[in-house]
Amino acid sequence: MIIGIDLGTTNSLVAVWNADTAQLIPNALGKLLTPSVVGLDDNGELIVGDVARERLQTHPQATTALFKRHMGSARETLVGERAYRPEELSALLLRSLKEDAERYLGEPVTEAVISVPAYFSDAQRKATRVAGQLAGLKVEKLINEPTAAALAYGLHHKEEATFLVFDLGGGTFDVSVLELFEGVMEVRASAGDNFLGGEDFDDLLVAHVRAAAHAQPLPTATEGALVQRLRREAQRVRHALGQQPHTTFTVRDGGHEWSLAITQDDLARLYQPLLDRLRAPIERALRDARIKAADLDEVLLVGGTSRMPLVRRLVASLFGRFPAMQLNPDEVVAQGAAIQAALKARHASLEEVVLTDVSPYTLGIETTSSEGQRRIDGLYLPIIERNSVVPVSREQTVYPLDEAQTVVRVRIFQGESRLVSNNIFLGELEVPVPPKKRGEVSVQVRFTYDINGLLEAQVHIPLTGERRTLVIENNPGVLSPEEVAERLQALAALKVHPRDQQVNSLLMARLERLYQESLGDTREHVADLAKQFQYVLERQDERALREARVRLVEQLEYLERRL
Ligand code: ADP
Ligand code: MG
Repeated sequence: MIIGIDLGTTNSLVAVWNADTAQLIPNALGKLLTPSVVGLDDNGELIVGDVARERLQTHPQATTALFKRHMGSARETLVGERAYRPEELSALLLRSLKEDAERYLGEPVTEAVISVPAYFSDAQRKATRVAGQLAGLKVEKLINEPTAAALAYGLHHKEEATFLVFDLGGGTFDVSVLELFEGVMEVRASAGDNFLGGEDFDDLLVAHVRAAAHAQPLPTATEGALVQRLRREAQRVRHALGQQPHTTFTVRDGGHEWSLAITQDDLARLYQPLLDRLRAPIERALRDARIKAADLDEVLLVGGTSRMPLVRRLVASLFGRFPAMQLNPDEVVAQGAAIQAALKARHASLEEVVLTDVSPYTLGIETTSSEGQRRIDGLYLPIIERNSVVPVSREQTVYPLDEAQTVVRVRIFQGESRLVSNNIFLGELEVPVPPKKRGEVSVQVRFTYDINGLLEAQVHIPLTGERRTLVIENNPGVLSPEEVAERLQALAALKVHPRDQQVNSLLMARLERLYQESLGDTREHVADLAKQFQYVLERQDERALREARVRLVEQLEYLERRL
């Protein structure tokens, strides 16, 4: 059985194709969304998901989130005593999802289709594959997130279609234009904002609340704890106002209560600057794909933040139609990955789809421009433009500047800047040239970029027949096979927090957080609850424990609202 995984920045999900539908698989806590957070508990045991997320605030040194942002780089994060690469942190999360799937299916799982953003670079894709490998999963295929959404909406059953996928998640915004033609799904363009998502909406509301608190001071708490508490309340308010016209933003502390009434209209005004930022990437994606909004057959809404009515309304007004939103926007990518997994396994109930990709960035070389005696070095000459459908092969002809020149050096870069100094250097090629008059020796530079993200650069001098080729595959951020083997051993040695303890650990983590956030009588009350619960835990009486949990959940909910 091949599973489908949405490895998200904020939340991750796992799904499987079952009885002709994509079935989402619940985690140890019975939830479909597993927060993309990993950490170590007080015994040095690995924790993943909700339990880890609860501890982000109370144990920042032993917990980490948002590591998807660093995929494809060598940046390491300290968790407890050891530093972890982003692909290792992703692997720990994948391992947990794999185990959830194995529990659910009752059989070992060794293969997966994992989704990645359409704009993910070669290094980021490789890192994702390594993460799968480190988690004991053979990555059958990486699928682009918008393509997965399209599969979930069954668009692959159409003859042909052009559509736009609008994905607003927790911290990122991605727009992709896709085209289905003769059974081929093509990402025509992708654009977005890597720093725009639900969290930015919450930050804005927190700032608004703090500004309003000038007249009446907010409860006293340590700055860190207060910010976390305000953010949690901001998220609650934002979600609530998707359903009701008004609510109250409330923070309490012991006897002291602070509150601010907030309406849907307030939010609409407050969020306007963020909503405005959604426009430019949409326009850019349409422009890059050379498609008019009116020619789109469908607009698909993806990402948890797309649940906001304000966002849906904006999308509807921008496109002059209602976007497709029959499916839960935060679940479609995992569903699509499961469908792709089923296709991979040649499941008879779905027709085969070939998926293609785009080059996520521009690839080019350094040139010098000259006008009379004046020369400007370090200019960028694009050869393969961003969003070109791969595989792609393009050629450019350049001419050596100096008559006495005996060798040309071709320096290869990736990036979108006019100046190579702002782009990423990938490698260089040197080719001998005969000393001739300017303009007499032409140098042909051909780039071929394939579906696996391999770039082949070839320099050809027609006059001499001289040829040089360079294949660029080793990205600076990618682990070598030896390093992978080494990390694999290290990860295998990590003790994992027992699965059946997760429900209890989540409650203890919530108590710890509440303790940190509160003061005075409330704090004492929280400490008592923790002591009592610890006591029941140690008695190991399953029935007593079940009852204690029910009572504790009620009290926690009351306290969290009241605190
Ligand atoms: P990602 O793809 O970035 O991992 P998701 O697609 O799961 O994440 O989106 C997470 C975001 O969705 C969070 O910021 C969360 O606040 C937001 N979200 C989830 N449900 C709702 C809702 N009902 N209303 C508004 N925002 C929501
Ligand atoms: Mg997502």
